[in-house]
Amino acid sequence: MPLTNIRPTAELQALDARHHLHPFSAQSEFETKGARIMTRAEGAWLTDSEGEQLLDGMAGLWCVNIGYGRHELAEVAERQMRELPYYNSFFKTSHVPAIDLAERLAQLIPGPLNSVFYSSSGSEANDTNIRLVRRYWELKGQPDKTVFISRKNAYHGSSIGSASLGGMAAMHAQGGLPIPDVHHIGQPNWYMEGGDMSPDDFGLMRARELEQAIEEIGPDRVAAFIGEPIQGAGGVIVPPSTYWPEIQRICDAHDILLISDEVICGFGRTGNWFGFETVGTRPDIITIAKGLSSGYQPIGGSVVSDEVARVLGQDEFTHGYTYSGHPVACAVALENLRILDEEKIVEQVRDVTAPYLKEKWTALADHPLVGEASICGMMASLALTPDKAARAGFAAGPGTAGPIGRDFSFANGLVMRHVYDRLVISPPLILTTSEIDTLIERAEKSLDQTLAKLKEDGLYVAA
Ligand SMILES: *Cc1c(COP(=O)(O)O)cnc(C)c1O
Repeated sequence: MPLTNIRPTAELQALDARHHLHPFSAQSEFETKGARIMTRAEGAWLTDSEGEQLLDGMAGLWCVNIGYGRHELAEVAERQMRELPYYNSFFKTSHVPAIDLAERLAQLIPGPLNSVFYSSSGSEANDTNIRLVRRYWELKGQPDKTVFISRKNAYHGSSIGSASLGGMAAMHAQGGLPIPDVHHIGQPNWYMEGGDMSPDDFGLMRARELEQAIEEIGPDRVAAFIGEPIQGAGGVIVPPSTYWPEIQRICDAHDILLISDEVICGFGRTGNWFGFETVGTRPDIITIAKGLSSGYQPIGGSVVSDEVARVLGQDEFTHGYTYSGHPVACAVALENLRILDEEKIVEQVRDVTAPYLKEKWTALADHPLVGEASICGMMASLALTPDKAARAGFAAGPGTAGPIGRDFSFANGLVMRHVYDRLVISPPLILTTSEIDTLIERAEKSLDQTLAKLKEDGLYVAA
């Protein structure tokens, strides 16, 4: 019995437009075209309030890694709510779910990353990272090491601190961001910015911008570098393979902490448990959220190395959230990790699903509208272009083709997202090969329709 589908769609849409402010949306748009109202989901499939089914190519918002409808998580949540629905860990107190999950994370995450500070989201975890890293250097007797270096077009969250770490120009344009002491270098986006350079040379060049920035700002001022192994919200930008090893070398050479933001890349997305394994770095801190609970409960965390934990532990760290280590969220996350592990979902992605998706996805690069098909594990994107050879943008500006493609995709029963003129997927990791076939068919049809529409509207013109 659906819980939410009890009023006509039009009525729900009107109420939604009137009373519910949506993230990253112009609210006024909902007055002319109401939101699509999702009512239930199973596996990789969503059902809306009109009973239509969509293949969820985005796993919710990059998070529903194990897919929808896993009742085990609901049962664990119910049991935990009955037993101990809430308690904090401020008063020299703790509880079993927070302890069990912390132990499990320490087992799962390779290297010396063995201690977690919990939050309820990726944004909060990155805010924690800002305070934690500055406190770390202060305790080490280097209080001037306060500067964070990040990348343009990075996404690290939407709170004041995390949005400052992020490099989204549209976000910085509102509300006086970024905060001081956050510095942004160029992104390793060869397709857009690589010009005539080879991808490998371009990757090295972009990594060395970190070294230049450290030299300009002063190594005694730079606290940490933060990056997503593969940029997600920035459009699934897969860096050249030269990039991350050079970043690691530079962080080591200048005594700069490396923070790997694993909010999307963690928990199997790239075909390993963590994105840093895929790109070959040794981070001092990782940010986790999203796939940690497959989105069934809001939970995130900062997982720090033994050395960071040791230094930080010398004195009171005046930081914490009411819901740090929420017992229900921890219990659900633990159950999610059990399923990922026991059902060998990450291995299945690495050995079967991701290679199959890669073969089909990269073939879409032959489409006349596609300039590049990027993919790493189960996250992928298509750069749309009016001129493949020149990797050109559209004369009408960024975001000419992307929204059209997204709308056709939804109409064809496939949730894809657009980032300017890139179409993006990040489906549940449990996708079957036949569901991948469906995804590809619908994506291809959407590309055909988008190309026809661009031509019809005179928009198929290079900038
Ligand atoms: C989504 C995301 C965040 C922010 O997480 P929220 O739970 O939305 O606060 C941070 N970093 C990355 C890489 C993300 O994709």
